Amino acid sequence: MKLTNQRAAILEFLKDNFDHPNVEEIYENVKVSLPRITKATVYKNLKVLADKGFLKEVNVRGVSRFEAKIEPHHHIICKTCAKIIDFESDDLVNYSLKLIKDYKGFRINSAETTFFGKCRSCDEL
Ligand SMILES: [Zn+2]
Ligand SMILES: [Zn+2]
Repeated sequence: MKLTNQRAAILEFLKDNFDHPNVEEIYENVKVSLPRITKATVYKNLKVLADKGFLKEVNVRGVSRFEAKIEPHHHIICKTCAKIIDFESDDLVNYSLKLIKDYKGFRINSAETTFFGKCRSCDEL
């Protein structure tokens, strides 16, 4: 895949951002260095990058968010403000795969779990 300036700028931003930003947030950041880029173009590039396996798309309450961490990992999402953080646990992956290796004709080969709760700032409200 040809890494255009636009795609490079998107990847560069996501490389150092672990908040799983949405299209709007990525657009706001990328347009600082590429002022002529449109939100639609950012969105199209994000989709291509996710399709090619450079990025991962995560759906949080109906909103697409993106991250550059493509290795399997779990997520914890705040039910109140939709803040999302990563949770690493190979044990959980291995346990899940032991639990369901085959299910209704599916052969299972990877597992990512989403946990829901309340983040600290929402808990203090
Ligand atoms: Zn919260
Ligand atoms: Zn993540």
